[in-house]
Amino acid sequence: MARPKERRVTIRQVFTTIIWPRRKHLFLGLFLIVISRLASLVLPGASKYLVDDVIPSNDLNMLKWLILAVVAAIVVQSLTSYALTQILSVEAQHLIAKLRSQVQKHIIKLPIRYFDNAKTGELVSRIMTDVEGVRNLVGTGFAQMVGGILTAVISLVLLISISPMMTLYVLLPVVIFGLVSLKAFGRIRPIFRERGKINAQVTGRLTETLGGIRVIKGFNAENQEIKTFEKGVDELFQNVKASLTATSFVTSAGALLLGLASAGIMGIGGYMIMEGQMTFGDFLAFTLYLGFMIAPIVQMSNIGSQLTEAFAGLDRTEEIMNTPLEADDRTRTVALGSIAGNVEFRGVSFAYEAGKDVVKEVSFIAPAGSVTALVGTSGSGKTTIAGLAATFLNPDSGQILLDGSDLQTVTLESFRSQLGVVLQDDFLFEGTIRENILFPRPEASEEQLQSAARAAHVHEFTDRFEKGLDTLIGERGVKLSGGQRQRIAIARAILADPRILILDEATSNLDTESEALIQASLKDLMKGRTTFVIAHRLSTIRQADQILVIEQGRIVERGQHEDLIALQGRYYQLYTYQARI
Ligand code: ADP
Ligand code: MG
Repeated sequence: MARPKERRVTIRQVFTTIIWPRRKHLFLGLFLIVISRLASLVLPGASKYLVDDVIPSNDLNMLKWLILAVVAAIVVQSLTSYALTQILSVEAQHLIAKLRSQVQKHIIKLPIRYFDNAKTGELVSRIMTDVEGVRNLVGTGFAQMVGGILTAVISLVLLISISPMMTLYVLLPVVIFGLVSLKAFGRIRPIFRERGKINAQVTGRLTETLGGIRVIKGFNAENQEIKTFEKGVDELFQNVKASLTATSFVTSAGALLLGLASAGIMGIGGYMIMEGQMTFGDFLAFTLYLGFMIAPIVQMSNIGSQLTEAFAGLDRTEEIMNTPLEADDRTRTVALGSIAGNVEFRGVSFAYEAGKDVVKEVSFIAPAGSVTALVGTSGSGKTTIAGLAATFLNPDSGQILLDGSDLQTVTLESFRSQLGVVLQDDFLFEGTIRENILFPRPEASEEQLQSAARAAHVHEFTDRFEKGLDTLIGERGVKLSGGQRQRIAIARAILADPRILILDEATSNLDTESEALIQASLKDLMKGRTTFVIAHRLSTIRQADQILVIEQGRIVERGQHEDLIALQGRYYQLYTYQARI
């Protein structure tokens, strides 16, 4: 699907929308960094003054003032550094919170097809873990980097002012070290990027393992899962090890450099003092400033790996943010009013993978308010056809018309607000039964809720619960049977009051008794709505206005139950086969 470039959501845009509004805090942080670092630079100068001027003068008053000045500088430095860490940490957390929301918002609006291929756990890791790395961009990493550069530059100027010759001597190894560490970090970045990927895979698998624990235990596959996880964790370990090797190399090289520079400085400085070209105080100040200049450069190994990690996380986040949203399809311009619900498929074909059509040239008309049943063996394409009618998928060729408009030109919101779906393993959220029924229409009245619940025979089991509809379900509440869950899903659809209704094996979880109970309410639910029913149990579809028999993506027979039975064809076979069981 062609997508105009200018609509791409880039990380830069995300940053300008999140960070720029907070610029006041960030500038304040920056200002504090400058103050804090300037204050820290007072100490070497004071030492020089002490050695060269105060001590020789024997003036106690001067000594007092000097010490007061040093104490003042240290207090300023501590206070500003406390305030700036505070401000920047909060800003970093704010950034993460906003970024997470943006990523989640984007992911949730991606087309259904995206979720067919992506694993839930991996997406969770994208939202929660990858974004976390970005914290350092704004937090301590940022402060260290800016502060470090500032200190290094000022120290360098002061070093030159004390002794250009000695400065030149120490600068050479520092430059070499800088280049080596830059190169090293270039190499680490792909390792970090890989780490995020492995992390997401391991998390994804873990989510599946825990979700599918019954299947795992049922097939005695615990040991296999343990091995798979162990392998993933080991891969993660190897990855971390690889990056550690590189970062510890940089750190050690930095320490070596500092040591060598110090030895050289002792030689040159000692010689210059002997020759009377330098004072003790200058020498002392020089060594101290040298420490100030080199420390941030060595620290860069830490900051560098933090930043590298942050950028790797950003890369992955950006990848998601650049995946087109379904709503970005600019051909969707028609906002529907209230629809009647005439649906027509005209020669619709669809393939998940190029060249392998799963739906082939399907044409039929589902008049407003009629029931169309899709029948066929598993894998014949029933769910895919329903997905096309629901705009979860788009036809590769042919057209789907809704009240005469091409469904592909219709805005998703205006269409889906008039659509209802009940699926086989229908999804209930953590929360109360009431919340689960209300979820498509939170503003519904108590009366509407009660009547929906009653129509779907939800009351029959909730009346036995002490808290009725307010009973919690899921991990923290009662466990429901498949049939009970299904009835809640049906109540939800009744409450949503859609014009177009899709029931994909909605009754397959019901036992015979609850099915009988629900048949009547399903009939009520379908009344006046254009309904697509996919059902295992042919009894559900006997009364459909039209039955489409699907085989390998094609409609092979169509008509009403009696006609198709009389035809003694594919439908008859399916029906009699089922009647036997
Ligand atoms: P039914 O609902 O009749 O059992 P489906 O419409 O689910 O059939 O599937 C039709 C065919 O499309 C099957 O061969 C299935 O393997 C394939 N299929 C379904 N979903 C996907 C998907 N997300 N990606 C690739 N192939 C799919
Ligand atoms: Mg199906």
